[in-house]
Amino acid sequence: MKCHKKKRVLRKNLFYMGAVVTVLLTAMAVTGCGREAVEKITCSDTAMGTVIQQTLYVRESEDREADDREEEGREAQDDADALPARVMDCLNDLEAQILSWRLEGTEVYEINQSDPEAGYPLSEKMSGYLECISQVWEKSGGALDVTLGEVTRLWNIDAWAQGLGAEEEAIGELGFQIPSQAAIARGLEDTGFEKLRIEENRIYLPEGMSLDLGAVGKGIACDEILALLETQEQVQGAVISVGGSVLTYGSKPDGNCWKVGIQHPRESGEYLAILSLSGSKCVSTSGDYERYVELEGIRYHHIMDPETGYPADSGLISATIVSDSGLLSDALSTACFVLGAEKGLALAESFGAEAYLIGKDMEIYMTEGMKALILR
Ligand code: ADP
Ligand code: MG
Repeated sequence: MKCHKKKRVLRKNLFYMGAVVTVLLTAMAVTGCGREAVEKITCSDTAMGTVIQQTLYVRESEDREADDREEEGREAQDDADALPARVMDCLNDLEAQILSWRLEGTEVYEINQSDPEAGYPLSEKMSGYLECISQVWEKSGGALDVTLGEVTRLWNIDAWAQGLGAEEEAIGELGFQIPSQAAIARGLEDTGFEKLRIEENRIYLPEGMSLDLGAVGKGIACDEILALLETQEQVQGAVISVGGSVLTYGSKPDGNCWKVGIQHPRESGEYLAILSLSGSKCVSTSGDYERYVELEGIRYHHIMDPETGYPADSGLISATIVSDSGLLSDALSTACFVLGAEKGLALAESFGAEAYLIGKDMEIYMTEGMKALILR
């Protein structure tokens, strides 16, 4: 094995073009003579209305260190340094071009504005998302329903999402109001995935209906990041969290598995379990502690039961799903939360996904495969 005495010196702090990024750490682990050096890049930022945390392990190969390849090596390194910014660009594009229902010009916005008779042409990506979403809608008996837009707007979830733990008097100022029964009944008339039509890649939404892809957006984001990382040869491994969805990719330089914690739904910062995962996986959690307000002892959270139009009350307070697909894990976490323990476990199993569900009295329900993933 060829041995290079000349080692490239760790030359920088993370070079990052993004505006609000906080670089937490840049470190290089040189693993020995003739072997690969792996740089660990970590950073945290916000996108899609949530916190994005990235840890990337980027290879610096022997070749790149060679004198005659110095220039090429530097370029590759610059690419590596720009990776966190590319991940952020990927998420911001996804939100600004496809997913947001609020931003004019996104695909979801245009679909929601479209003429019910003329319909709207779906992009290849959106067709794929809706294909998977419709399978989960069907198998969950409608527990996941992305046509709930009119109901989720009534609850004004985005406005009071920041009000976690607010005093009762302050809740009104956050924009939280319990919608009237009549308003919910009207909203429900405009929902129901069975009422939309997709024919020859055109979508036809009935008058008054609007899509809300909030339940699957972060999972889709994980899939998009995975596709980006797969084009980056120098990335050995990564773990990236997009709010409640965490993507693991590749392998850790020390050979250990990725560890992803399942948050205690009532003790912030504590974990109920640590999952040990290898390769590319997505872990999504839906919980009643993520966005909620409390009024007269009742917790109003952001996951709705499409049958009632009110926050789901299935007996679960948290649902975590592990799957190879981000979209599937996010869709299933919402659906399981709405369905409750028994039906939720069966649903996850029917998709070959693993579930960790937590009931109101902290009772734990798991698929068999999940038990094997738990480290402690
Ligand atoms: P988070 O967005 O916190 O990860 P979820 O993935 O469970 O949580 O998605 C909740 C979001 O999805 C809500 O903010 C709302 O926009 C939308 N939503 C709520 N209930 C449902 C449902 N039953 N089916 C589809 N979308 C839903
Ligand atoms: Mg979800």
